[in-house]
Amino acid sequence: MKIELYLQQLKEQGFKITPKRKAIIELFSKKKSYLSPQEVLEKLTNNFPGISVSTVYRILEELQDAGILVKIGHEDRQLYYSLCRMPDQHHHHFICRKCRRVEEVDLCNFKEFERFISKNLDCKVENHSVQIGGLCSRCK
Ligand SMILES: [Zn+2]
Ligand SMILES: [Zn+2]
Ligand SMILES: [Zn+2]
Repeated sequence: MKIELYLQQLKEQGFKITPKRKAIIELFSKKKSYLSPQEVLEKLTNNFPGISVSTVYRILEELQDAGILVKIGHEDRQLYYSLCRMPDQHHHHFICRKCRRVEEVDLCNFKEFERFISKNLDCKVENHSVQIGGLCSRCK
């Protein structure tokens, strides 16, 4: 997916294209792995001297709200983000714990699971998020 498509998505979601937002999208588009806010900050300080970690956090959250980044749940309890390559459809992500690679998983088999929960808890299930982790084809 080209960066222009992400910028278009950003606009469609009501966000302005600012140099910092664009730089962060560019940074993630070059990587197939996740990054921590601290790592994003380190990469950005060259072009944006004085940029603060709270600014980076805020932009990462905004890009997540716009459906461009995904937040990665990690066992080390650190916060990480990665670029979502299929932002317009429901899917899941596979995370390699060794090389930090994030792969799109274009399959969702949780419909039956949702029906089970709706019935057994007598509730209305509205969403789910499932992250699959392990070792990728290169690391296993
Ligand atoms: Zn994705
Ligand atoms: Zn790997
Ligand atoms: Zn799903």
